[in-house]
Amino acid sequence: MATIERPSSAFLTVATFVGFSLYILGCTPPKPEQQEPAANNDQAAPEPDQAQADTGTTGKYSPVKARARDFYAPNTEDLGPDEMRLIACGTGMPTARPKQAASCWLLELGNGDKFIFDVGTGSAERIAALQIPYNYLDKVFLSHLHTDHFGDLDALFVGGALAGRQRPLRVWGPSGETPERGTKYALEHLRKALTWDLDGRQGLTDPRGYHLDVTEFDYMGVNEIVYQENGVTIRTIPAIHALDGPVSFIVEWNGFKFVFGGDTYPNKWYAKYATGADLAIHECFVAVPDMIEKFKFTPQSALAVGTQIHTAPEAFGKVMSIIKPRMAVAYHFFKDFDTTAAISDRIRTTYDGPLSLSIDYMVWNITKDDIRVRMAIVDEDVWPPPATDKPQLADPATRIPYSDAISNGRLDMKKVIQPTYDEINKQYGINEKQE
Ligand SMILES: [Zn+2]
Ligand SMILES: [Zn+2]
Repeated sequence: MATIERPSSAFLTVATFVGFSLYILGCTPPKPEQQEPAANNDQAAPEPDQAQADTGTTGKYSPVKARARDFYAPNTEDLGPDEMRLIACGTGMPTARPKQAASCWLLELGNGDKFIFDVGTGSAERIAALQIPYNYLDKVFLSHLHTDHFGDLDALFVGGALAGRQRPLRVWGPSGETPERGTKYALEHLRKALTWDLDGRQGLTDPRGYHLDVTEFDYMGVNEIVYQENGVTIRTIPAIHALDGPVSFIVEWNGFKFVFGGDTYPNKWYAKYATGADLAIHECFVAVPDMIEKFKFTPQSALAVGTQIHTAPEAFGKVMSIIKPRMAVAYHFFKDFDTTAAISDRIRTTYDGPLSLSIDYMVWNITKDDIRVRMAIVDEDVWPPPATDKPQLADPATRIPYSDAISNGRLDMKKVIQPTYDEINKQYGINEKQE
């Protein structure tokens, strides 16, 4: 049974303090004991409640009692009715790597709604690690059509349907300057590219998830509503990146404002409409020297891509100084021991507010009073979570048969497979027969 983790009151106080001080630590939450003053024997003895939460000589520690954890374990915490949880499922570059998938963000609201913003290359496995039933993961918003922002849509679409999404995948994305550069065109053709995959699944499993429900909206819309359901309003603003078309999203719910910025050169719409966000994500590209030395770009390309097509760290800081969010979140760089300092130092030339330099599996719990930042620890042996609705049996009559030439190539395995049929027919009270 899932339970809410309830840290001690002293820890909550610490967590609040941490909320304001995380930025100097690159968002690694300090352990509670780091913030507690050392016990002073000259002071009066603490009250019993305080003693429980105190450190050192007051007996809080025990060889058999667990201390409060400071990581997020998927599928172990309820979400409060007035709480939002954001999980980074991709924070890196178009060339995905084991440590960082490309852009993908899961926003979970206390009303039960969940939204995926971008589903970049490599991110589908991060989503899987969160152990959320796929029926709850049926809404995807694309900032633009670079593969590092939608390259795993096929994986989420097909893999999600196979693992319990019993409804179409709803996708919202921008139009382009021409119809061929819009989301509708891209996804119609993605669906066509999957013809062999989808035809081959007919008649085998629940068919209801293998459909895309695409809503293309005007990329030129300025603070225009593209989604309004269940008390949640999502608007878009234009972004300036590569070609006309990219956008950023602004989510409003329950008095919260969450902004997801897609790739962009710093722009006036973000500066205006992201102002005062509780949490504002904005791209922050690899520092130019590292683009050249580590990513092997030419100096010319590094300058053009790193400062003109994208947002340089110094420019990211400038944007955040304008909009002053409760928490600024930077992404779109390889975050390593030898690159993080350069990003941080450059941002700090223009911004001194709360900051998360994001990495995959970073988690933000956002309430009116606090923003708690942790890392998720995931189970790599994860299996699909349960489907939330009763499965619909596939109709075997809809299967597309092999040609005779291929079908006749089957070795005779009936005798060795029949025991499995017998076992399952008996266990589940069914009467399936081999082909
Ligand atoms: Zn892009
Ligand atoms: Zn990108």
